[in-house]
Amino acid sequence: MKKYLYLIAIIILCSTITTYFYMEENIAYSSKAVSIMKKYNVYNQIDKQNYSKTLDFALNSNNFNEKYVNNYQNIDYVEVDNFITKVNTLLNNSYSNEEINDIFKYISKKNIEKLLEEDKLDLKPYYYIKNFEVDKLDKYEEYKDLHNCSLEEAVLKVNIGLDHDFYTQIEEIENSNEYTVLVNKYHSLGTYAPNDLKSLSYDSRYKLRAKAADAFEQLVAAGKLDNVYIRPYSAYRSYQTQKTLYNNYVARDGVKEADTYSARPGHSEHQTGLAVDVWSEGYNEIRESDAKWLQDNSYKYGFIIRYTKENMPITGYIEEPWHLRYLGVDIATDVVDKDITYDEYYDLYLK
Ligand SMILES: [Zn+2]
Repeated sequence: MKKYLYLIAIIILCSTITTYFYMEENIAYSSKAVSIMKKYNVYNQIDKQNYSKTLDFALNSNNFNEKYVNNYQNIDYVEVDNFITKVNTLLNNSYSNEEINDIFKYISKKNIEKLLEEDKLDLKPYYYIKNFEVDKLDKYEEYKDLHNCSLEEAVLKVNIGLDHDFYTQIEEIENSNEYTVLVNKYHSLGTYAPNDLKSLSYDSRYKLRAKAADAFEQLVAAGKLDNVYIRPYSAYRSYQTQKTLYNNYVARDGVKEADTYSARPGHSEHQTGLAVDVWSEGYNEIRESDAKWLQDNSYKYGFIIRYTKENMPITGYIEEPWHLRYLGVDIATDVVDKDITYDEYYDLYLK
């Protein structure tokens, strides 16, 4: 009889131990994580059936905060630097779990960094506007109300700078030497000068950066095959040359008018060595039929017609069918396909 009691006792003991270990093993968290749960007395709040990678990371980070234990379990894990610190900051700023999930899903890394420094913002309307910037929300709203336009349009226009008058808020360009550089009435090249200028075969006084010069020769040759004869009449212009030119125009027509057709020094695409003005051979202008040919063919050689009539409100320049800007074939083709100004294109796709 005594023997049976021993046996029963052993069986009970074994099953208890098995159950205990089985329960522990059923938790996908590491034993280190489990011990931290127990240390902070939150073990009972853990949903053992649903493993949360975010919770696991929180437990294993130096920033685990026991008051957020339920939040961690409902926030999707995202592979970003200092994820838990960011989550803690957002929770501390009263964002809900759902909002935090959306923030990591829809908002750029750069914007999240800025967001961490701001009080709580309603970002929902911006989730699908990819080029918005967290620190400009007030400006977007203001522009939208003032111009009665969509939020998407307001974001684009404000990003370009159109909420300010031309030349009133100027940023120094940092990537002056890139073929994609954006130069306009809001962005200045300063006294930048390219170091790979190459003379054009038409006349050695006209220069472009090497790649643009080669592309231009190809464009001219292609034109000839279609009985379109064009020649350069202005290509690279230094800061100093632009300054003299602009000042002469101002003396003749006044600032307001000069600004519509001539860039202020530092703001001309010609200073990049990537822009060239063309005339029809034998004329002091570009003939309409030649302009049409350029419109249809320039992009194949990497050039766009930078200033069109429709784009004047954005570029601030009158229609200039003679002004070609080199961007390389891929980008020039894409700009033409999308049928937008380069200012807009740059903000949407290159910034
Ligand atoms: Zn020009």
